[in-house]
Amino acid sequence: MDTATFRFYADLNDFLPPQRRQVDFAYPVYDGNQSVKHLIEALGIPHTEVSLILVDGRAVGFNHIVERNQTISVYPPFSRLDLATVSELRPPLPAPIRFLLDNHLGRLARYLRLLGFDTLYFRNQLDDEELADLSHQTQRVLLTRDRGLLKRSQVIFGYCLRSVDPNEQLKSVILRFNLSQDIDPWKRCLRCNGNLQPVEKRTIIDRLEPKTKRYFETFWQCSDCQQIYWRGSHFGKLQGFIDDIQSEFRDST
Ligand SMILES: [Zn+2]
Repeated sequence: MDTATFRFYADLNDFLPPQRRQVDFAYPVYDGNQSVKHLIEALGIPHTEVSLILVDGRAVGFNHIVERNQTISVYPPFSRLDLATVSELRPPLPAPIRFLLDNHLGRLARYLRLLGFDTLYFRNQLDDEELADLSHQTQRVLLTRDRGLLKRSQVIFGYCLRSVDPNEQLKSVILRFNLSQDIDPWKRCLRCNGNLQPVEKRTIIDRLEPKTKRYFETFWQCSDCQQIYWRGSHFGKLQGFIDDIQSEFRDST
């Protein structure tokens, strides 16, 4: 049987069975008709995870047809520089980064909005096809735990979350896209992703509970859903969460 030799680097090994991690291994190829993208995805790695493919030491695009005896090295992104560089595989990531989240990621959506990142999340209103199409049309990074969704060809930018824990998910997204310097909290509505604007108390006073009316003077309002925000007890908890995230990344840089 004709084979090519594959090796996957760094966290791409998360997607492989143990016997294929961190080693060269042979995989069947049929001359003339299998793209490197097809083979990488057949091995379990969504194309969105891949930043560089070398075939016999030369960078190739996803459409490269794999021939027998070729040696294929597959790498994830290394740094922001890498993400921003024009690659063989996809256009540069648009800046500022914007996200679209799969249906099971409601907590992560709130956390990303809290840190100021433009994050669409529709809680079961979109199926996989629609999520993939929307991420394509809007050039948003699709975040999901579903490898199958990221294998869809419409998806250009995506990231497969390894953890089920929203805290860990958030940290992994900050790391993957090198966002620690871009955190800009309290700019977005946690409910709907709209922009928060300062609002005069007198214009919203009818909507406030008596205690809020008595103890708070400074308010913000979502320009989309009209939700009102103020620095109440909930604010303190969330600010603590933001401080923890920021100090963690400050310490690690
Ligand atoms: Zn809102």
